[in-house]
Amino acid sequence: MRYCRFIFEGHVHYGSVEDRAQEPWIVDLAAAPEEDLAFHLAHARKRALVDDPTGFDFEPMPLSAANLLAPVTPSKIVCVGRNYRDHAKELGNEVPAEPLLFFKPPSSLLNPGGVVRMPTASARIDFEGELALVIGKRATKLKPDADWRSVVRGYTLANDVTARDLQKKDGQWTRAKGFDSFCPVGPWVSDEVDPTAGFEIETRVNGELRQHGSTADFIFGIPELLAYITAAITLEPGDLVLTGTPAGVGPLNAGDRVEVSMPGLGVLTNTFQPEHS
Ligand code: ZN
Repeated sequence: MRYCRFIFEGHVHYGSVEDRAQEPWIVDLAAAPEEDLAFHLAHARKRALVDDPTGFDFEPMPLSAANLLAPVTPSKIVCVGRNYRDHAKELGNEVPAEPLLFFKPPSSLLNPGGVVRMPTASARIDFEGELALVIGKRATKLKPDADWRSVVRGYTLANDVTARDLQKKDGQWTRAKGFDSFCPVGPWVSDEVDPTAGFEIETRVNGELRQHGSTADFIFGIPELLAYITAAITLEPGDLVLTGTPAGVGPLNAGDRVEVSMPGLGVLTNTFQPEHS
């Protein structure tokens, strides 16, 4: 299963994504994940926005030609800080004894291809390429040896954009991590990859390789993360868990193009521009 979310002729649709010779295509419409709580909140009063896939004549199109949306409608975005040893070290931090959690608000979500707006309040805005888990079933108080795959719908890519100066200045991270447009996600959700098998993540800035990590280097693996998070917080269908970033983070300039990629998850591309331009 691989699905994206996009706007076509003014309506929101979900689409099935397949690799074709040159590039990925949206080959058919897919059912909306109706179990998503946030999906219901968003659409309860405007159901007409989501077409019945059966009543719509869809012609396949290259993904690059589609007006893509973030493929998820999370009620919350739970993030893990310092989950790769080399990244903890590069920022001069100890390797944590237990996962370090923070939130990004759903209002920070940004579409694949969207423009990150660089707030004037910050003088240093960093990229952080990350693997994101998409929750598929309500999960609460999961045991570390639970069947965690049964609550994960699939995987996607995220850029945990961070105002590094404000992260230090504020003492907590809500503003530094939470500006509008600071959470690009996509381009699609897939359950056809296995991140526990050592999964390579790369981040490029203007085409130059800046981050290259493997999920084999996680300090806390996915089962431990899900047990730790759900001991405190119930995860709902559609929620995102950002699993942390490898070494190589760095500041961006206006006009920069950031690409986060993993095999099987495509490329999440976003550009950065000043807030007022
Ligand atoms: Zn991060």
